[in-house]
Amino acid sequence: PSPVLSVENLEVTYYTDLGRARALDQVSFTLRAGQKLGMVGESGSGKSTLALAMMRMIKPPGRIEGGRVVIGGTDLIGLDEQGMRHARLNKIAYIPQGAMNSLNPVMRIGSQMVDAVKAHLPDEPRSAVQERCYHALRSVDLDPGVFRMYAHELSGGMKQRVCIAIGILLRPSVIIADEPTSALDVVTQRQVMETIDRVQDEINAAVILIGHDMGLMAQFVDAVAVMYAGRLVEISSVREMFTDPKHPYAQALISSLPNLDNKGVFKGIPGLAPSLLRLPSGCAFHPRCPNAMETCTAVSPDLLTLANNRRVACHLYDAETVS
Ligand code: SF4
Ligand code: MG
Repeated sequence: PSPVLSVENLEVTYYTDLGRARALDQVSFTLRAGQKLGMVGESGSGKSTLALAMMRMIKPPGRIEGGRVVIGGTDLIGLDEQGMRHARLNKIAYIPQGAMNSLNPVMRIGSQMVDAVKAHLPDEPRSAVQERCYHALRSVDLDPGVFRMYAHELSGGMKQRVCIAIGILLRPSVIIADEPTSALDVVTQRQVMETIDRVQDEINAAVILIGHDMGLMAQFVDAVAVMYAGRLVEISSVREMFTDPKHPYAQALISSLPNLDNKGVFKGIPGLAPSLLRLPSGCAFHPRCPNAMETCTAVSPDLLTLANNRRVACHLYDAETVS
């Protein structure tokens, strides 16, 4: 089946007083309908920048320098502002980190949902809009009575589910959720993940989950993408990533997990994440890499395809490339 989402050579640069920072460097991947991808990496590795770039929400001094984000045949990067406004929520929904704290405290949940629908479907009759909102609330396991409530009347988990409900109002084909479970307790985290799972099944969307809790993520995603210094360095199925990670950075991430099947909170690996303003030459990971070779300091490895459709950017595997 052809991919519903194709990100091709996406590049973002921040122009700061201290110099240029390449926040996203040639990021490419595809997702099929119904696929779930977990996106992991240290803070500053480019996960949130990737989400913002896909939504065309990069703010100056940042700039999208090139690449394509193709959803259902449309390249979002090529759309004008109006076209992009329409695409948001319709083709691609974004649930930003801390979304639940950005609900308007003085507006009823229902009004916020109605506004979101009206912005895209100004001609939809009032009753249909309301039914759409009720349906979305039921899909995330909330009582339609929440429609008349205010954010402060809801628990953290309920607020996060409201944000997911808003995200699916227009049944987008791609949903990006940035740290959707941070600041929630363990039981609620699981419920929120199960909710995402269920709405994804219902609308058959491709989902990108950005997070740092590898253990929690592993139970809900199909594949894991690892980012380092603005680049994708490995994409593998969950099973392969956890049992046989290829990239030395992915190996370090996995081996730093205290326990694979419960609290896999990533605490970091030795050495400092590089400043995007002053990236090491060649492979940006080389100063921290136990396997670094001479060529690593000079040549940046491409993200190549290995057997089983795994993708790895590391010179150790140059000879194993299948395409
Ligand atoms: Fe390590 Fe070289 Fe692979 Fe980079 S390319 S991860 S430095 S072995
Ligand atoms: Mg982030």
